[in-house]
Amino acid sequence: MDELNLLADADARGLRYTEGNATRRVFPSNEAIAALAAFDEPLPANGLPAAQTLELLDRIGSAATTASNGPRYFGFVIGAALPAAAAAERLMLAWDQCASTFDNSPVAATLERIAGRWVLDALDLPRASAVGFGTSATACTLGALASARRALLARQGWDFDRQGLIGGPEIKVVVSELAHITVKKALRILGFGLDRIVYASVDEDGRVDAARLPPLDARTILCLQAGEVNTGAFDPFAQIIPRAREAGAWVHVDGAFGLWARTSAQAALAGLTAGIEEADSWTTDAHKWLNTPYDCAMVICRDAQALAEAMNSDAAYLSASADAQKNLTLEFSRRARGIPVWAALRTLGRVGVAHMIERHHAYARRIGEELARLGFEVLNRVVLNQVLFRCETDDATVALRGAVQASGETWFGGTTWQGRPALRISVSSWRTQEEDVRALLQLLAKLRGELV
Ligand SMILES: *Cc1c(COP(=O)(O)O)cnc(C)c1O
Repeated sequence: MDELNLLADADARGLRYTEGNATRRVFPSNEAIAALAAFDEPLPANGLPAAQTLELLDRIGSAATTASNGPRYFGFVIGAALPAAAAAERLMLAWDQCASTFDNSPVAATLERIAGRWVLDALDLPRASAVGFGTSATACTLGALASARRALLARQGWDFDRQGLIGGPEIKVVVSELAHITVKKALRILGFGLDRIVYASVDEDGRVDAARLPPLDARTILCLQAGEVNTGAFDPFAQIIPRAREAGAWVHVDGAFGLWARTSAQAALAGLTAGIEEADSWTTDAHKWLNTPYDCAMVICRDAQALAEAMNSDAAYLSASADAQKNLTLEFSRRARGIPVWAALRTLGRVGVAHMIERHHAYARRIGEELARLGFEVLNRVVLNQVLFRCETDDATVALRGAVQASGETWFGGTTWQGRPALRISVSSWRTQEEDVRALLQLLAKLRGELV
């Protein structure tokens, strides 16, 4: 088999895998997991045949995947890859472009510029913002917060690039009590110090309480969120952001999945993000709710120059325009992550994205109502795509989680909410349809009958 046949073989195997994904076990069987031991070989001294490597990968590997790319996976907020986005990604892999600058890849630079424009359009954010396509919301948040600190220091007359932090004015950070762990990770890596972070209190829905907002000033970065991981809650942007801006603070919004609610014109969804456009920077994932393949996320910065300067990596041998992706993200050599985004947006259109978000929201509401009818305690207002619930006793909640995960019929995970175990269902796959929601509810009704 020559090398090109190998690529065709990989495509065929990938297609077979995707076709089988709707009916396979959602979490792999114990046997499939045990079989992963077959990978545990010593590094071969001499290379083995490539075709055999692919065969092994498919035979052992495919069976031990979670079917998160299928219709019945309700864990985390993972999303399945839209065929349009996955197909564009495959072609892009064939191109194998180093998408750092126009000189490296005219097509990548062009498409990522257009994808960035479309993202701003779809999310209705300030059109002059810079859009960097990074590996994850985590990496993009790191870039946004580094830009925020650098810009606030510059306003204080401090040159961060030359002087670093020592001896400079302290930049304070205020984050929601329920900020995502990756926001804290980014802050920790950037040297903000976890004990120096000021936490903003939240109300019973998990939203930052505007009445109890800590003091803000021109040396403060305030991190808000659109879509809390347990409840899907949105901070009250319209109440908070104008105050923060007046104080001269920088407002960053973590909208890893929730920002996509903004694509809908339905009052219940559109209202969630009202005022969010007044922030200074935003991060959002494409690999979650836009349903592109991994790794794909965006950092969006109102002050395009602030991001381009903070992330700059121009070198004598490779200078570039301020909108070169290598100057907007952490990566220097990189793949053109914006291309699957371009393909997803072009294929769905503004209306198609909104319909997907609205459909998932409607399913989540149905699930919440039905769970309450079945006697579960639903813990959140289902404002988005997340349903948080539990049984009467903690033991029953934990047992239900185990039974769901072992069933292979679906998969969702647990969390701790207000000190007690709880379960999280999230709807985020384009493949999820009515019948999958019905099957989920039937399974939960049956398990409830058996366990309680
Ligand atoms: C998933 C998530 C993140 C991190 O996103 P990655 O792309 O996984 O790095 C940040 N914030 C929220 C609210 C998330 O759900």
